[in-house]
Amino acid sequence: MKKVLIANRGEIALRIMRCCRDMGIGTVAVYSTADRELKHVRLADEAVCIGPPPSTESYLNIPALISAAEITDADGIHPGYGFLSENADFAERVESSGFTFIGPSPDVIRLMGDKVSAIKEMRAAGVPCVPGSDGPLGDDDKTNLRLANEIGYPIIIKAAGGGGGRGMRVVHSDDELIESIALTQAEAGAAFNNDVVYMEKFLQTPRHVEFQVLSDTHGNAIHLGERDCSMQRRHQKVVEEAPAPGITPEQRASMGEKCVNACKRLGYRGAGTFEFLYENGEFYFIEMNTRVQVEHPVTEMITGIDIVKEQLRIAMGNQLSYTQDNVKINGHAFECRINAENPDNFMPSPGLIEQFHPPGGLGVRVDTHIYNNYRVPPNYDSMIGKLIAHGNTRESAAARMRGALSEVFIGGISTNIPLLASIMDDENFAKGGTDIHYLEKKLGLS
Ligand code: ADP
Repeated sequence: MKKVLIANRGEIALRIMRCCRDMGIGTVAVYSTADRELKHVRLADEAVCIGPPPSTESYLNIPALISAAEITDADGIHPGYGFLSENADFAERVESSGFTFIGPSPDVIRLMGDKVSAIKEMRAAGVPCVPGSDGPLGDDDKTNLRLANEIGYPIIIKAAGGGGGRGMRVVHSDDELIESIALTQAEAGAAFNNDVVYMEKFLQTPRHVEFQVLSDTHGNAIHLGERDCSMQRRHQKVVEEAPAPGITPEQRASMGEKCVNACKRLGYRGAGTFEFLYENGEFYFIEMNTRVQVEHPVTEMITGIDIVKEQLRIAMGNQLSYTQDNVKINGHAFECRINAENPDNFMPSPGLIEQFHPPGGLGVRVDTHIYNNYRVPPNYDSMIGKLIAHGNTRESAAARMRGALSEVFIGGISTNIPLLASIMDDENFAKGGTDIHYLEKKLGLS
């Protein structure tokens, strides 16, 4: 691979561009007319405008992306996260147009993108899942009522095609069940063009623990341990860390091996994440992400492994650079997601960044595309950067993160930095192991 087109924007586009540069691979940036001033657009070897601000007409515009790859003679396409990264049709178009898709095969993306088929596949691979309907719900009310009672309330109705924390509804009793199924089906049909729903036991105080995997095309697969992403608001991750507090080396090895075996069974290619809910010492698979994740840096900091570089190497047909025995966990890392948002009502707050002072120092990493006088456009996700801090222990990593948060200054727009600082100062978070509802309770939202 000599030239990679980066089909994304923002910090992840910059992250991929830097990695290509390290590897001597040429880069093509694509951008919408709202994104002419993006940092990586200036730094990439070439840049192509792919359309107007709405993402449906630019970053989700498959013909425009394929044409951009054609005119620049790129050979690989990296989708980043979000946008088309888990779109099997896009991966298929990339491959049928003669380019290398830097990710799994379209069939695997499709299989794991449907949560019902993903769960079925994981059960067959011996990965523990949440007790549930083991398949789509039909329209027989009696059967659905019986199922819910067998599983035991509360249960959650989830859309097979759901994502981004949408398409889910918790049900507490028989009275609400039938209507809730119909409502979730209708919402899922409208939002994801797929009205298939399924039922799971609703776990009340779980943590979100996920395993990072890498798998090449030579039958090798490894895991890089786990991350804890329980600090969430509206099912969106706010602070992540690795390793997950309290997970023993034995649990890590055993769950990691299950994920690795699942990769081998799937013929998985590239980087991926198995997401689990973790409660009372047990793991329950909820879904797989077939792409690089926002929170991948915490794993990089504790393993020293460049996940994006491995993605590119795997796509080029190389063997993994590591065996499981070479993967060593060193210390602890946190990531805080910085959003351009109003700290009181969480509404996006785009606009001109009049001043930006990034933090620094040993063990502090800043992944961001913002700079002084950069204008955050209103058209996209509000995340404008990530602070990552590494230390030899969880306490020292947390101290570094607190220091970095006190140092960073973003003037001109509102950000969630005060919220991030209050999380890092929270005494229960300091102990480790808070559950997925903790942040909303702390904020008085639930
Ligand atoms: P998405 O693809 O939208 O991210 P997930 O299946 O990963 O959907 O679920 C997102 C979040 O919803 C989880 O991190 C968790 O907070 C909550 N959730 C999902 N399933 C359950 C469940 N069975 N019990 C409790 N919470 C759940």
